[in-house]
Amino acid sequence: MSLNLATLSGGTATIAPETVEALKARVRGAVLTSGDDGYDAARSVWNAMIDRRPALIVRCAGAGDVKAAVDFAREAGAVLSVRGGGHNIAGSGVCDGGVTIDLSSMKSVRVDPFARLARVEPGVTLGEFDRECQAFGLVTPVGINSTTGIAGLTLGGGFGWISRKYGLTVDNLVGADVVIADGSLVHASENDHPDLFWAIRGGGGNFGIVTSFEYRLHQLGPQVISGLLVYPLSEAKPLLRRYREIMAAAPDELSCWVVMRAAPPLPFLPKEVHGTGIVAFAACYAGPMEAAEAAVASLRAMGTPIADVIGPHPYAGWQAALDPLLTPGARNYWKSHSFTTLNDGAIETLVDFAGKLPSPECELACAQLGGAINRVPPDATAYPHRDIGYVVNMHARWRDPADDGACIGWARSLFEACKPFATGGVYVNFMPEEERDRVPNAYLGNERRLANLKAKYDPRNLFRINQNIRPVVSGSPC
Ligand SMILES: Cc1cc2nc3c(=O)[nH]c(=O)nc-3n(C[C@H](O)[C@H](O)[C@H](O)COP(=O)(O)OP(=O)(O)OC[C@H]3O[C@@H](n4cnc5c(N)ncnc54)[C@H](O)[C@@H]3O)c2cc1C
Repeated sequence: MSLNLATLSGGTATIAPETVEALKARVRGAVLTSGDDGYDAARSVWNAMIDRRPALIVRCAGAGDVKAAVDFAREAGAVLSVRGGGHNIAGSGVCDGGVTIDLSSMKSVRVDPFARLARVEPGVTLGEFDRECQAFGLVTPVGINSTTGIAGLTLGGGFGWISRKYGLTVDNLVGADVVIADGSLVHASENDHPDLFWAIRGGGGNFGIVTSFEYRLHQLGPQVISGLLVYPLSEAKPLLRRYREIMAAAPDELSCWVVMRAAPPLPFLPKEVHGTGIVAFAACYAGPMEAAEAAVASLRAMGTPIADVIGPHPYAGWQAALDPLLTPGARNYWKSHSFTTLNDGAIETLVDFAGKLPSPECELACAQLGGAINRVPPDATAYPHRDIGYVVNMHARWRDPADDGACIGWARSLFEACKPFATGGVYVNFMPEEERDRVPNAYLGNERRLANLKAKYDPRNLFRINQNIRPVVSGSPC
């Protein structure tokens, strides 16, 4: 049967059955169309707001399959999306009517404990990566939810509990194999295609499809001091002011993120607290256990918490500790701001909005950055935000489509109210689909160089279902 594909020019191309059969014959993995077993699972992503139906899904088994799928899409002029872990809030891993290149079956992690390097395929999740590395007592900084894909996270920058000590995920990337738009496989590192290597360290999926990442590893674990201090939301304003002072003097090893939300029914929280507003300080010490207790003592001294569950935890377990609050299948909408510091105005605004959450699963999550991240020059990688202390994710999360308006409205109003206190920059991995006009805020002074490199590596903008950097053609973006 012939296949209709959405094209980059906005039309439809009819593909002859023998062309689809030739693709099937060329790949080791599966080629799925609507109605095939696995088609619906392959098009489902973390955010249930996204419901897209690709005409064709190529489930790649290796780099050869990725080349075949890129060739097929390019020759057909088809809309093309690339899926790793499927966590992107904008749902950019899947497309409507085009070709989705699904990398989620590419799961190899090869740790070299002697060289302290890991080679990782793009379908690997953070939890899979952490478990393999921890078998050798090794880590590299990734995000705080174990089901997130390592590919999309890395390509946008990547930060988590140990980034103040070891930098962003991209600061630990030493090389990558990339299938570029013409279908060729190139290696990108400081020595090979260094311009491409610069671009993929923050420039997202704009420059090609990474089929293998190579990361530098560090020794940490198996236990780290980590956990939560939980207080009533009514105490949040003075606590956050104290937290700001403590963290300004904290060592790189100590990270503490803040979450404001309705208390979930966690076993360590008294029943009467469930469902009431709380502020939780989530801390992790990326260093020797003996030094950790002293470092978290200042946080403990902030007040009398409802719960104090800071203690030794397996590193890989702590990396998955917040998973139950972030399961796939809910409706989600994010707005995000970056802050150099949390000044009094920002604290007032954030806490006031935390007091009027439109649904029990909404939350305000404040990631703490700085440390090693900020000792890298802003033009050393495509990720430019090397001067910020905090990123706040205004995370609306709910179940019933009837609540869409209230939940999205809450996040948007909070975003507007925080504008006077924020830098104006935005982390590309936290941008919802509608924020295409904020791409310059994601790349700041690196935007022009990225647009020039886009023209070199992907002049026709084949890789455009993402927070898109448009190629510069004859001086202006095409
Ligand atoms: C619950 C949750 C928690 C999160 N926590 C953190 C956090 O702590 N720190 C942090 O930094 N981020 C965090 N994020 C954001 C996360 O980094 C992004 O959502 C990221 O895009 C997820 O990558 P993915 O592979 O799962 O996504 P996908 O949706 O599969 O892919 C996203 C995009 O990445 C590109 N892409 C994916 N794979 C490839 C590839 N191999 N080659 C080229 N391009 C590719 C494509 O453009 C694709 O559209 C979190 C997200 C969620 C949902």
